[in-house]
Amino acid sequence: MNPDIDSTFLSIRRDRLQAQLETRNVPALLLTNLTNIFYLTGFRGSAGVALVGPTRNVLWVDPRYTLQAREQAQGFEVREARGNLLKEAARWVQKKRFGRVGYEDSSLTFREFSLLKQEAGQKVRWAPAGGIVEDLRIVKDAEEIEWIRKACKLTVAVFEEVRSEIRPGMRERDLAAEIEYRMKRKGADGFAFETIVASGKRSAWPHAHPTSKSLEKRDLVIIDLGAILAGYAADMTRTLYLGTPGPRVRRLYAAVRDAQEKAVEASRAGRAACEVDRVARKLLESKKLESYFTHSTGHGVGLEIHEKPRLGRSDKTRLENGCVITVEPGVYLEGVGGVRVEDTVLVTAGAPEVLTPAAKELWVTG
Ligand code: ZN
Ligand code: ZN
Repeated sequence: MNPDIDSTFLSIRRDRLQAQLETRNVPALLLTNLTNIFYLTGFRGSAGVALVGPTRNVLWVDPRYTLQAREQAQGFEVREARGNLLKEAARWVQKKRFGRVGYEDSSLTFREFSLLKQEAGQKVRWAPAGGIVEDLRIVKDAEEIEWIRKACKLTVAVFEEVRSEIRPGMRERDLAAEIEYRMKRKGADGFAFETIVASGKRSAWPHAHPTSKSLEKRDLVIIDLGAILAGYAADMTRTLYLGTPGPRVRRLYAAVRDAQEKAVEASRAGRAACEVDRVARKLLESKKLESYFTHSTGHGVGLEIHEKPRLGRSDKTRLENGCVITVEPGVYLEGVGGVRVEDTVLVTAGAPEVLTPAAKELWVTG
């Protein structure tokens, strides 16, 4: 048994998938995306192929993972494959005479797909299943929400600790390393992404990697961090200013913070992802800053740091109770710097819940 996952939730996830497969008239689905395999089986390995079928579910692993899979995977028959996992799975599919089998078209190479077709024979019809499991993952269950909540809490605790120690003269790289070290010390399994610390003009690069540049007085500093716990990610950004900000920086910051808070407020069940994006964009538009807001307002977060939905101009996905998203508008001015404020937010039946409620004061003196 996987101590991190309650088997009830795994079986509910599989039931939801079965219901989806039925509506598409696909009796079985072959899973090759490892994140989706973990979501449905509880098995966390670097290689594996699974099949969700009408009467039984099978997980193929190589000998490195046999014992682990037997321990972790729930509701799946574990089969050890000595050769190519896909080949084994394809032959099994052929033997079971499934007429139509879904496959994850976004996680197979053309070569792998050709092998599947060849090994399963001509009687099997392969149906691309698109992001069928990714779509299920948009709405988190109670177990997932608990892990994300804990990952967020840990992330906030580390940020608040480190924030009080930030001084001019520290190198971006050292600050990022300190953040990551403390996340580990507090029990994080890992980091959702490489921690971003971008200061001064470099803060105008939305995804800058930390360098050996030292933080200087009058720098804007963007810090984007997130811990992983039991596979689940947190994601939070704060922007600081070293010293006492002048009117321009204050104005930029106030606009972004306001856009962020209004967009969080708009993150409610029943609204489309693109409507939340629109709220942030409109506010920045009213401050003549829209051309400096060069990315989307946010993204789903869970087993992956970026998952569905995308809070951008065109994603019409309706938010539901249990969606976990980020809300992170930002503006980036060449030669000046950038400002971004990001929270991980739980969409509920009522008011949205900010899972990363770290302080948002802008300046640091010292
Ligand atoms: Zn982030
Ligand atoms: Zn993010």
